[in-house]
Amino acid sequence: MEAFDIDHAHRLRLSAAGRKIHDVHELAVFADSVAGCTRCRLSQGRTQVVFGSGNPHADLMFVGEAPGFHEDKQGVPFVGQAGKLLDGLLAGIGLTRSDVYVANTLKCRPPGNRDPQPDEIEACEGHLWKQIELIQPQVVATLGNFATKLLSGRPTGITRVHGQEQETSLGGNRVLLYPLYHPAAALYTPKMLEVLESDFRRIPELLGRALVPEPEPDPVVLATAPEPAVQLGLF
Ligand code: URA
Repeated sequence: MEAFDIDHAHRLRLSAAGRKIHDVHELAVFADSVAGCTRCRLSQGRTQVVFGSGNPHADLMFVGEAPGFHEDKQGVPFVGQAGKLLDGLLAGIGLTRSDVYVANTLKCRPPGNRDPQPDEIEACEGHLWKQIELIQPQVVATLGNFATKLLSGRPTGITRVHGQEQETSLGGNRVLLYPLYHPAAALYTPKMLEVLESDFRRIPELLGRALVPEPEPDPVVLATAPEPAVQLGLF
């Protein structure tokens, strides 16, 4: 009996590791395929696609707005001033960038850092859904209005929903969506920075929270011909 338990646990570990290795490879293949994306006009002005960076096994994923000047040049999200603030906020809860995964709603820089346009978000969102599907985070923290509205599917702005987690399905996974102020906005508004810091401090608690799996659909009952009545004593 004990031998069976050990064997069973071992097989479970192997299959979990196998799935992750497969997903990491798939994420790299997917990043390569997105590198040449021409789904919207932003492909014409970019230096490169900024796909995302960090730990492909991360339980915590951040989604920002769009690459800026430095991100476009370096090919990595959040490397400018807002990125430095993000690093500091992560350090405050004992994490580094290599513990988390960071991506953006748009993968290419809008000219002059203007706001993303609705058709650009629509063209790009499939890339983000696929990333979430492959990374399988527990918590997805949206940074600012654009990511929050896209991932919540609601028009309610960040001022009203920041710090309020909600369970939802993204990229086919059950996740806790956690809207936060954008670090770039908090850089110049001390009150907003205080709120962002306080919302950030709840992240460890959220990571520890088990998600309730989505209820299974009712099993489909196939119509079958009624069992013939058992005839007794005829033979
Ligand atoms: N702001 C964002 O939303 N994303 C980045 O990558 C950098 C700044």
